[in-house]
Amino acid sequence: MDDCIFCRIAGGEIPSAKVYEGKRAVAFLDAAPMSKGHLLVVPRAHWKDLAAVPGSGATEEERAAYAEVCDVVRAAARAAVEVFGGGANVLQCTGEEAGQTVGHLHFHVIPRPKGGKVPPEFVSGAYRYADDADRAATAAALRAAIAKAL
Ligand code: 5GP
Ligand code: ZN
Repeated sequence: MDDCIFCRIAGGEIPSAKVYEGKRAVAFLDAAPMSKGHLLVVPRAHWKDLAAVPGSGATEEERAAYAEVCDVVRAAARAAVEVFGGGANVLQCTGEEAGQTVGHLHFHVIPRPKGGKVPPEFVSGAYRYADDADRAATAAALRAAIAKAL
């Protein structure tokens, strides 16, 4: 994808502060970090978001690419803990409604140094189900959709 900024970063056409370069994934510092050491982990292959990653129909290469991305996210979280001594949030935005601004799959790994506050967007209780039936219907819809997406 010639016009995709993360394809161009992965390919080395646009400079970035890379911290990992693998066969199928790269990781680099976010240009507008939420915290010190905020990283983005992206596949070299272009998928527009997490919902676009193929499931059981994936080729071996697609599976390997997704596996490498997940493994680098795991390693980046461990690195954030080791380097900054606190914790880390992993954030993935699928779709504009979720805040996605770059249409190439990426996972944010955001270090949360020791002594910092848990960011307000991660405090639970922002949504309340109307009643038990609403909760059960929501779970049923998601259960069916997950089974289809696997
Ligand atoms: P999103 O909102 O799509 O989940 O996140 C996109 C992220 O990409 C943002 O945090 C933004 O700062 C970062 N970003 C956008 N353009 C560039 C760029 O050219 N280089 C780097 N390193 N990060 C970028
Ligand atoms: Zn791309």
